[in-house]
Amino acid sequence: MITIPRLLIKEPQKGKVKGTCIFCGQETEFGHRIKDTISSIFTMAYVLQGGNCACEYCFSFMKDQTYRRKSWVAYPGGFKTLDKSEKKSILFNPPIPPFFISITITGQKQPWLEAFDRLAYSRNEYYFAYEPFGLVFFNRETALKMDKIIVKALKLKITKTELKTHFKMKTYERAAKEGFEELLQEIKSFRHNQLWEVLINVTTN
Ligand SMILES: [Zn+2]
Repeated sequence: MITIPRLLIKEPQKGKVKGTCIFCGQETEFGHRIKDTISSIFTMAYVLQGGNCACEYCFSFMKDQTYRRKSWVAYPGGFKTLDKSEKKSILFNPPIPPFFISITITGQKQPWLEAFDRLAYSRNEYYFAYEPFGLVFFNRETALKMDKIIVKALKLKITKTELKTHFKMKTYERAAKEGFEELLQEIKSFRHNQLWEVLINVTTN
């Protein structure tokens, strides 16, 4: 099975521990001790599988800070980091499957910890990693609908905070006057949806 670390790491750093990888569940003869791989196991115990080591691929992946700090897309032919303006377009235009997209906002957490085997095999429906949420499901039809509304709302000077939380009184008044009350209802129906919040955050214009 292709895991995300196996897709990304071409020359893994080999260790001496034989056993089962706690991250991806695969057998290895070149694993590393868990405590040499992560400093604290307790904060992420719920995502780990049974095992006694970190395989050479998962070890190398965890040790490279690029994958935690940057946003990126990985596919069999390569790997690319994403700048701010590319985060949204990659969701709608991912590479030919299999691929995996990881988008970080602060770079503090590792959003793909529960996703080592969640490669995307469809460009229309897939999981991607989003920090700080973790795994988020992308559905093209829903995402296109949401994106249209977000772009329209921002043009009407509704703020990103309003899109995510609640509208200001002024916005309700403006909607009544200018006739976009229906748009406010549509926005309300998407709130508290993770994909909605992601799309708002990666919209740069
Ligand atoms: Zn592994």
